[in-house]
Amino acid sequence: MSAIDDLPPLREVIRRHELSARKSLGQNFLLDLNLTARIARASGPLEGVTVVEVGPGPGGLTRALLALGAEKVIAIEKDNRAVAALGDVAERYPGQLDIIEGDALAIDLGSRIQGKGRIVANLPYNIGTQLLVGWLTTDRWPPWWDSLTLMFQREVAERIVAAPGSEAYGRLGVLCGWRTEAKIMFDVPPSAFVPPPKVTSSVVRLTPRALPADCSPRDLEVVTQAAFGQRRKMLRQSLKGIFLDLAGALAAADIDPTARAETVSIEGFAALARARATERA
Ligand code: SAM
Repeated sequence: MSAIDDLPPLREVIRRHELSARKSLGQNFLLDLNLTARIARASGPLEGVTVVEVGPGPGGLTRALLALGAEKVIAIEKDNRAVAALGDVAERYPGQLDIIEGDALAIDLGSRIQGKGRIVANLPYNIGTQLLVGWLTTDRWPPWWDSLTLMFQREVAERIVAAPGSEAYGRLGVLCGWRTEAKIMFDVPPSAFVPPPKVTSSVVRLTPRALPADCSPRDLEVVTQAAFGQRRKMLRQSLKGIFLDLAGALAAADIDPTARAETVSIEGFAALARARATERA
């Protein structure tokens, strides 16, 4: 572990605050400050940036973000033991670390930020996808964040960046590809975490598209849920229940009724979502 600041080593912080990892909170901590600095750098230059970090835990990534020049870190943490453990970091960077004790699923992060911000997090795996979907399906677009740099299990990361035609392509890939450009930055082996998870993880960066295909997140979710819910079936079968005039909707979207979900482009799904919105109007 290298010194990026003059704070006590993370193992010492964990010991002092009795921060043994809890599975129920998705706690797999990163203690290597070289690695947390690499994750922080993957989000882009940090000078003058306000970063929201979900689940700072003992603060390895939090320290890296601040040491690399973030103007402010707003850290949302559910575990009050971790909140206490971040006290030293808050003291070392006066006025730059706001710690909010609470559930990230229940907090409107955008309302805490003036102007643009960024989200960087080693997410709790049990709610990572749910948080990501929430950040991607807001009514307001472009969003308040200029990038999301997030740790996921490798298999989830592959679904996030999946292109049409691939095995991993599904609802998550459509949603992510619709509104963002998503890229796997690098893998992180289980041994980098305490305790080690069972599988390899990946850091993914998503940046918002200025002009994603025009459709509502809700319609896109309904269409992709039906299409990928029965992914081996042809669309003329799998989409039956959600359109009054399915043949008309597929024709309007220029999609072959015998196609299967995994071959349909993101633009194709957006066109189907628009067709559904038109039917509902
Ligand atoms: N960032 C730290 C690191 O890299 O070592 C900890 C990452 S750990 C994978 C996930 C963190 O999220 C834990 O600190 C956990 O307590 C916190 N957490 C879990 N559920 C949460 C929730 N609903 N809202 C906010 N934080 C949560």
